[in-house]
Order: sequence, then C-alpha cells, then structure tokens
Amino acid sequence: MKKYFVTALGVLLLLCCGGCGGPKTEQAKNIDTAMGTVIQQSVYATENAEAAVSDISEILRRLEEDELSRRLDTAELYAINSAAGEDAGIEVSEEMSQLLDRCLDVWRESDGALDITIGGVVGLWDIDSWAGEGKDAAFMPPTDEELQAALAACGGDKLRKQERMLFLPEGMQIDLGAVGKGIALDRILAYLGKHENVTGAIFSVGGSILTYGQKPDGSCWRVGVTDPADTAANIGTLKLEGQWCVSTSGDYERYVEVDGVRYHHIIDPATGCPADSGVAGVTILSRDGFLSDALSTACFILGAERGIPLAEHYGAEALFVGKDGSIIMTDGMREYFEGSRAR
Ligand code: AMP
Ligand code: MG
Repeated sequence: MKKYFVTALGVLLLLCCGGCGGPKTEQAKNIDTAMGTVIQQSVYATENAEAAVSDISEILRRLEEDELSRRLDTAELYAINSAAGEDAGIEVSEEMSQLLDRCLDVWRESDGALDITIGGVVGLWDIDSWAGEGKDAAFMPPTDEELQAALAACGGDKLRKQERMLFLPEGMQIDLGAVGKGIALDRILAYLGKHENVTGAIFSVGGSILTYGQKPDGSCWRVGVTDPADTAANIGTLKLEGQWCVSTSGDYERYVEVDGVRYHHIIDPATGCPADSGVAGVTILSRDGFLSDALSTACFILGAERGIPLAEHYGAEALFVGKDGSIIMTDGMREYFEGSRAR
C-alpha cells in the first residue's frame, strides 16, 4: 500500500509560562504530508500537545486511506467507484451517506457547479498528475469528443441514492477532491471537541485553514489571503477569533500552461473545461470545514455575482479576487478582512 505519510519534520515542544505562575501551556508544531498535500499543525495545550498533534496526523492518514482516496483500494470511495455500472449498487457507511447528501445539496444549490460526479472529466484532464504549478509544453487538452463522452457519465441527477444504497451509472467516477480538505478540518474539530487540554490551535490542510480557541497571548489568529497574481504575497489578512474554517480555491493552485494558456484544476461541469468566470481566487470563511471547501470550489466556478448569494445561503462569507485584481466580498467578510484594495 502506498504510504502517504512522510516522516514528520519534527515535533517542536515548547513550555510557556512554566515558571511565571500562569497556567502551563505547551506548544507542539508539525509539518506532514497527507491526503496528497501539506499538513501544518500548531497546537497549544495544558498538557499532551505532542500527543494531540500525532493523533491528528493519524486521523488524517486514516481519512485518506479508509475513506476518501480514489486511488487506494483500502478506501471506501475506491469501492464506490469500482461499483459503477453494477445494477446491485453499493451500500455505503452512514458517514459517507451523510457526506454525499451534503455534496448533493450544494450541487443543487449551486446549479450544478459543485459536482462530485465529475471524476471522469478530472481524469481526462489528468489533473492528479499536475504537480502543483507548472508548465508543460507537451500537455494536450482533451478533444471535444472526449469531453462530451466523459460529461455524459457526469451529473448529480444521474447518481441514484436511496438512503445508504448508492447506484452509479457505468463510467461515473466520484471525486471528493473539492471537499476533502474541508472534511479533514471537520474531523480535526471533532477531535478537539473531545480534548479539553487543547486551548488553541491552527491547522493548514493543503491551504484550508482551521483556527480554534485562543493563543496564549490572547491575540487574534491571522490568516493571509494569497494574491493570485503574485502567490508569494497576500492581498490581505483575515483576523479571526476562536473557531473558523478558511478555504481558498484558485487558478494558481494546480495548473499547466501551454503557449501562454493556463489550464487549471477547477472544472466547470457545464463545459467540462477549466472554469472561466473571471475569478482568479475565492476565499470562504465558515464555521464548518465541509462548507468552506465545497463553497470555495462552487463560488470559483459561479463567479461573484452568483457565488455571493450561494455563500450567504449557507451563512458563509466569501471574498473573490478577479483576474483583473478586483476584490469583491460579502458584507460580513468586511468585519474580518484587512487589506488595501477592498471594494
Ligand atoms: P478545490 O481546490 O477545493 O477547489 O478543489 C478542486 C478539486 O476538486 C480538483 O482538483 C478536482 O479533483 C475536483 N473538482 C474540479 N472541478 C470540480 C467540480 N466542478 N465539482 C467538484 N469537484 C471538482
Ligand atoms: Mg474546495
């Protein structure tokens, strides 16, 4: 079985306020790769901070291996996709059933923009092989016929679900890449809810951020919003207190460029091609990890005009950076965003 976990770069354990009379706080930090992405953890706890970090690493490893991977044959999603075209369908776990229901709900509310049945089209573009940002002169986009054939097996309306029984038509492949990082944040939250020793923490799962509790010095969590035009810089910062999930979808996260044309990893199910709504990046702020991740992908495809009502429907805040550098955000986002170019 392919090992996704790269050995930790090291867990740093610091003791703060040890001899100053206040409550003792430990900090543990870690960087791993899991779920095909980089995971960063920084945990403050009254005790056992290091154990929390390694428990969470294990939770994320299992999430990939047992549930969400399309490639590992140990994962439930692998079994689901293998059952495509089988009349008997497949019975899924209660957890997977609820997750699929949530995905289908966002599919309906987003007019089909978030479509987890898009796996065949994602495979056709070979998105998984794109190693982050890159230029690849040899890359050939799929032909129109290939796209139409792959699109014929896509669509939330073609996925039949009766309680826990799932029926995928021949050729349909489910891809949970648009929501996986958010689900990871929700699993971390579930762990933290049961571990009162953790007083504050910040996590990054492939750029989806979870803030939790408080820093020992009482200051806010600060989460940078990447400038799509210069990914080494931020267009601003979100100032957050307590529990928040922040997910970003951008055309700079995974792409290939051929002859000056950029093909990125977020597909518009209406065309089967990389979405072209004039948006370069969308950041969603929500209390819920799944929603932050699902909505960032959907809003990227829909653009600001259609995306803002969608985010508001789910009680989330959204910030859109246009390809022209313009910034548009929900009214509620202004409370958290600090940046110079905000409109
Ligand atoms: P994210 O980075 O969260 O926006 O998710 C992008 C990933 O979701 C891609 O790498 C694909 O695996 C998958 N994906 C692409 N387009 C869609 C779509 N329209 N609906 C659902 N998943 C998608
Ligand atoms: Mg997403």
